[in-house]
Amino acid sequence: MLLQKYNVIGKEEVYAYIKEKLKQELNGKEVYTPREFVSNLRLELSKKGIELNSPHQNAILGIISCRDEVVKIPEGLRDLNYMDFSSLGALYISGKEGLEVLAHHLPEEKDKWIVLLHLPHIGYDMENEKFGYIRRKGQKSDSPCCGAHAFLKESKKVSGKNLNPYTELHLIYQVIANKAKVKNDPYEWTKSLYKENAFYLAEALIEVVKENALMGFFYLPYLQVHVQDNGMKEEGIHYDVFIPLEFRIFYQNDQR
Ligand SMILES: [Zn+2]
Repeated sequence: MLLQKYNVIGKEEVYAYIKEKLKQELNGKEVYTPREFVSNLRLELSKKGIELNSPHQNAILGIISCRDEVVKIPEGLRDLNYMDFSSLGALYISGKEGLEVLAHHLPEEKDKWIVLLHLPHIGYDMENEKFGYIRRKGQKSDSPCCGAHAFLKESKKVSGKNLNPYTELHLIYQVIANKAKVKNDPYEWTKSLYKENAFYLAEALIEVVKENALMGFFYLPYLQVHVQDNGMKEEGIHYDVFIPLEFRIFYQNDQR
């Protein structure tokens, strides 16, 4: 249905339609197009004196997204220098050491910041008003999105024992396995999973900021939603929108 609309009207109108629909579904939550997401982010950072671009760059960016082929980092972020902390399932698994490396890549400015963008993803079927699935290019039926979660939650073949310990799925399994029963709603389940990951991250970030005498950090989590309807599934295309998650953290180091 939406695809037919798209053929007639422009991309902006399709986005407006999607935003309205998702806003209703999520009780008025903010929904950003990729362009709005990037411009809001720039604005928010500049209000706090954080600059990711030269010549006055005083911050370094880290991005945590899923390795899934459907994930696309929006234009305007892709061309920035950033460190990629992505994993299958978009969980942060690089430890405090990963953040220390990030801190050592900061430019030689006085007041330095770390900006961490956490971008987990989820599919949304507009026709059936359902989160958690997407139609991938060349496939005839829908598959779970985020697929890494579904694989670890649902597969009867998987247990902590038969996953190779040298893989990230093994690590993620340990985080996810004991939460499989928490929520059946993929949207709520996804949020609860990343909230816990955010608290772990914040602790490690505070230590790294203090140890390296940085100004602070800004941790910004957004859910990347891949929106499709029946008409678009045939072609395996989708529209991405971004929903800010509520557990964002701004930390300023007062001990400097
Ligand atoms: Zn995924």
